Amino acid sequence: HYRCRSAFKLLEIDKEHKILHPGNRVVDCGAAPGAWSQVLVDKLDPAESVGFVLGVDLLRIAPLEGAVFLSKCDLTDPATHRKIIDLLPSGQADVILSDMAPNASGIKELDHQRLVGMCLSLVDFSGTVLRPGGNFLCKIWDGGESSLIRDRLQQRFQIVKTVKPKASRTESAEIYLLAKSHKSNNAPN
Ligand code: SAM
Repeated sequence: HYRCRSAFKLLEIDKEHKILHPGNRVVDCGAAPGAWSQVLVDKLDPAESVGFVLGVDLLRIAPLEGAVFLSKCDLTDPATHRKIIDLLPSGQADVILSDMAPNASGIKELDHQRLVGMCLSLVDFSGTVLRPGGNFLCKIWDGGESSLIRDRLQQRFQIVKTVKPKASRTESAEIYLLAKSHKSNNAPN
């Protein structure tokens, strides 16, 4: 019933690393067409008004019971950050997920750098919106600048792991960085 096969990657990562818990407030970045949000709604129980699922994408995301969507919003735009904070209960998230991917130019190193840049900006935004102890997961295409994002995560989280779900094709450069337990005193940069 999932809108996209990417759902199986999140299911696999969560099964192994236990990042999602009922009642969590989760921001799903790059949420279209909405498969990760479907997994989140199943796991977090927003029907019981405890959990909260907020999906954000440049594209339109078709409505999903139990989720709130910000369609046509750019996650690198501070105006989007303000909307997210306004929508989140208490202005804070327990988990931030990103499956964002820019339109690939075909130039591998350039696409890699753009995606790393987007994730770095999301880590900075997480400094204000992710609660202490919260978890962060982002997709990158592996390459020369992967250490930039890994180092930034290591400064701001207790545990950082690289995850390659089986559901992610083995030939693809796609990897996921999982950062657990957000530190509380996050000085910007
Ligand atoms: N996890 C999604 C699912 O399960 O349905 C699939 C996500 S898809 C691989 C990547 C998405 O990232 C695309 O829908 C794309 O529009 C979005 N995206 C790329 N750049 C973005 C940006 N700057 N702001 C918001 N969304 C972005």
